[in-house]
Amino acid sequence: MRKPLMAGNWKMNKTIGEAVTVLKALKSSVADVTDVEILICPVFTALSAAAAEVKGSNINIGAQNLFWEPKGAFTGEISPAMVKDTGSAYVIIGHSERRQYFGETDETVNKKTKAAFGAGLIPVVCVGETLKEREDNITFKVIEKQVRDGLKELTAEQAAAAVIAYEPVWAIGTGKTASPDQAQEVHAFIRKIYSEIYKDAAQKTRILYGGSVNPKNVSELMKQPDIDGGLVGGASLEADSFAQLVKYSK
Ligand code: 13P
Repeated sequence: MRKPLMAGNWKMNKTIGEAVTVLKALKSSVADVTDVEILICPVFTALSAAAAEVKGSNINIGAQNLFWEPKGAFTGEISPAMVKDTGSAYVIIGHSERRQYFGETDETVNKKTKAAFGAGLIPVVCVGETLKEREDNITFKVIEKQVRDGLKELTAEQAAAAVIAYEPVWAIGTGKTASPDQAQEVHAFIRKIYSEIYKDAAQKTRILYGGSVNPKNVSELMKQPDIDGGLVGGASLEADSFAQLVKYSK
């Protein structure tokens, strides 16, 4: 059985103090949760303080990006070991905003994914089609390429541990969620492609849905057999709404 994972992507929001305040509140409201894994991904500058705040609790911390080289003359970048050093356990890779604004490609996603594993981090690899790609009926082609190229050359163990997030770009921050059926269709497709590459490991991999997830639509999404959690932006910024998402089945 795959343990559901509810992940908050805070994007470029919150100072260190703001992050710690939300985590303090979240920590107490989700303290009794054991059936859902919880992950919060703050900005780099808040990672250490966030990890210290949740130490010993059921909340994990993750970064939103990393660079694949271990060290050297790469001004402004942060290595996988440096992310790990903050107390983070996860890292989001290839978010559509990074693909759109910072030129990330399936090739850089793959380098980052392998480097994350090399440092003992679990990557949350994002895939998803744009509105134009959906309208042009090439959603499955786009997703297949992102999965095959972004997640290639992993060991079976890594393939099982990797988390994939399906985030249709047209659903991010727009209030337009993919319907549970629409999302399930793509999630099942991702698992099928992944099983062609990694066989049984694909049954262990968690595939999260992201794009305007909120406390109202979460339970219908989570009822789908191939949706194993959420990658949540806006609704993860406040402790109350994110706690409701974590407790979707209650
Ligand atoms: P929203 O939940 O704000 O639509 O953002 C989704 C997202 O991009 C999470 O990574």
